[in-house]
Amino acid sequence: MVPPNRPLSPGETRILICDELAPAALEIFTSRGYEPEVRTGLEGPELIAAVRDVHAIVVRSATKITREVIEAADELRVIGRAGVGVDNVDTTAATERGVVVMNTPTGNTTTTGELAVALLLATSRNIAAGDRRVRGGSWSKKGLLGAELTGKRLGVIGLGRIGRVVAERAMGLKMNVVGHDPYLKQTDAASPLTGVDLLDLDALLATSDFVTLHVPLLDSTRNMISAERIALMKPGARLINAARGGLVDEAALAEALDEGRLAGAALDVLAEEPPSKTHPLLGRDDVIITPHMGASSHEAQHNVAVGIAEQISDFLSEGVAHNSVNAPAVDSETLRAIAPYVILAEKIGSFLAQRTNGPVRKLEVTLGGEIAKQDANFIALSVLVGVLNQSELGVNRVNAPLIAKERGIRVLTNTDGEAHSFQSLIKVRASTQGGEYSHLVSGTVFGRAPRFVRVDELHLDLAPEGTILITTHSDRPGVMGRIGTLLGDACVNIRRVELGASETGKPEHASGFLSLDCEPDAKVLEAIRSVDGIEEVRLVRL
Ligand code: NAD
Repeated sequence: MVPPNRPLSPGETRILICDELAPAALEIFTSRGYEPEVRTGLEGPELIAAVRDVHAIVVRSATKITREVIEAADELRVIGRAGVGVDNVDTTAATERGVVVMNTPTGNTTTTGELAVALLLATSRNIAAGDRRVRGGSWSKKGLLGAELTGKRLGVIGLGRIGRVVAERAMGLKMNVVGHDPYLKQTDAASPLTGVDLLDLDALLATSDFVTLHVPLLDSTRNMISAERIALMKPGARLINAARGGLVDEAALAEALDEGRLAGAALDVLAEEPPSKTHPLLGRDDVIITPHMGASSHEAQHNVAVGIAEQISDFLSEGVAHNSVNAPAVDSETLRAIAPYVILAEKIGSFLAQRTNGPVRKLEVTLGGEIAKQDANFIALSVLVGVLNQSELGVNRVNAPLIAKERGIRVLTNTDGEAHSFQSLIKVRASTQGGEYSHLVSGTVFGRAPRFVRVDELHLDLAPEGTILITTHSDRPGVMGRIGTLLGDACVNIRRVELGASETGKPEHASGFLSLDCEPDAKVLEAIRSVDGIEEVRLVRL
């Protein structure tokens, strides 16, 4: 099981770097007080043995962090991939174990975009074939007639970070650039895509002289350039793929080239890497294949190494997960600002899980006032973590949603709440199956100290920390006095008492919340339970 995330000092933190990283990464770790261990080329049992006590693993693309590796790493908190894709990390296994997986999505954007442009130029002018011919002893340009880019149409599929770099560069090459990205709007003000017309995919394919792919490999994009789509492409067009293998039906592409329907292709990525010797696209002069080197530049390697070292250091020291692919992230400034509310939210969750008879099945989280302007999901997630931590070890913001789903816990979030006289208010109602038991807690922060200001019908001022004894009892003289005496006799000091109407709503019933300096033993609790007038006694630890 993953241990609860107790803060670690840099001295006790073990970081394992499994692939070659630019030296700048080591300098960053060292400057932050960490002493990472570099062990490259590990696999199988050796890798499993190496990860046993480590808190962080850093990889590029060579080392495969499988479920088996993750499950062997009992102390693991974070896996950092210096690069974009996380194909070599089993993120599902990591998520189940509460391990954050992070990547560096922007470090190689420019470099990969430039490779796509290089491939575009290379395929348009048969550069690779010309080079091969000269090395083969021939100085003939026969059959190497190319195509100008100027005035030609480039269809960019996927106008994210890299697609935009390519689109901008291509406009500089005087190309007519069109794009396809169903998740973008032509009017998107944030998009620096002036001059790029958005088309549907089929129209883009039918009218583009060059098509370049910049989409992620997802179930929805796998084989998106299928035989049918290749058949739609403009006769004589060329295809560039510097995104991911698996987007293109390579056999259909070979067939279209054989039949002369397409003029060429340039691929940095293939469905199977490295390809088998019999791959139909190998050995063709009209196809350029490079060994997945889109991100291979000094600048990109430096950027991703520095990025991952900084991100992992921030995560280990401050708990902030930048660029996490499996955890919700808030930036460090925001996290610092909302930290007391995050603690409050976890305390509310923890309190409610202990207060409610039976497992919580529904959480209604309502934010009011200033806190409602922050990331409501992050606060709601913190409540959930507080609830789940009462019944399961190693729950954190990464695996909590998954565990909640498995247990059928619904979390409803609302930011329209009242703050009443407080600057901010977090109100949470927790209910069991069918709403049989339901309790409510409202909390706020005074200074930076979390406070419960309401529990069910009782308005109070309760510091949610340490041991709290909750009683439901008859509202008549002597009951609280008797409890006080029993605790006093057991040397348990009562720091604060809050009394008021009980959640039963019956006027003769009262609730008591006694903040204690230490925990009474079972005998004392039994004695309190047998006091005349006591209906329920419960200890809550926060
Ligand atoms: P990104 O997330 O910034 O952009 C991806 C874009 O694709 C998004 O705008 C998204 O809306 C769009 N998209 C998603 N589904 C789509 C669909 N069905 N049709 C059209 N558009 C769709 O990603 P990025 O950083 O630009 O990376 C793009 C690709 O490049 C990724 O596959 C990445 O793995 C790959 N990459 C390859 C190398 C390499 O070495 N060759 C290096 C880095 C990145």
